Amino acid sequence: MPEGPEIRRAADQLAEAMVGKPLTDVWFAFPQLKTYEPALMDTTINAFETRGKALLTHFSNGLTLYSHNQLYGVWRVVPTGTQLNTTRQLRVRLATADKTILLYSASDIELLNADTLAAHPFLQRVGPDVLDASLTVEEVRERLLSPRFRRRQFSGLLLDQAFLAGLGNYLRVEILWHAGLLASHRAQDLSEQQLTALSEAMLAVPRLSYQMRGSMKKYHEEAAFRFEVFHRQGKQCRRCGAVIEKGVLSSRPFYWCPGCQL
Ligand SMILES: [Zn+2]
Repeated sequence: MPEGPEIRRAADQLAEAMVGKPLTDVWFAFPQLKTYEPALMDTTINAFETRGKALLTHFSNGLTLYSHNQLYGVWRVVPTGTQLNTTRQLRVRLATADKTILLYSASDIELLNADTLAAHPFLQRVGPDVLDASLTVEEVRERLLSPRFRRRQFSGLLLDQAFLAGLGNYLRVEILWHAGLLASHRAQDLSEQQLTALSEAMLAVPRLSYQMRGSMKKYHEEAAFRFEVFHRQGKQCRRCGAVIEKGVLSSRPFYWCPGCQL
């Protein structure tokens, strides 16, 4: 399942293909969305915004397409006029003169205006996005120590989109390794030093992943993002030399180093 950095990368590709160009074709599979097709023709897409695993497509007439891909949804970018050979169900097609974007298989799709966007249940529930550049280490630390989250074990807390949006399983295990912490801890039990290390890792790890993963040019130019524990069970920890272990926590595979995560 894609996590915040992969979803943001996909949004970047959609933006590169579509932003600022008039729409020449608008098509929705769901009957309740079809009535919006004429209103969106000849508008432009201003931006693609991610909020955790939800994608918001903002149109120049003030409407916003909300889509959440859950497990199966996937966006594709193709040259306009191209057919894709696939058994997936097409749900959304938006075209400009040269590029078309296609959303397959997603079922969680809505068109919102400013009011329904502000009141949207999922968007109201979701916490600050770790890839939002305005989110600071100090804010993450405050959120960790807030009455709502301070007693929650990290095993579940780091997967909860209401805490921070954009984290998923590989980020959960990598963040805890970078912070040198076991998943059984709760924020209220940490030292000041541990709190700082965890708050920093919660932003630094996803942001590095976003910059590095899938970018081969950068991969060769800079220190690449590499997994330290994820899928590394049985291998040596690069920090302390102990053997990485694998288990299950909060119903998801969990990887950790018993030597340096305390
Ligand atoms: Zn280690």
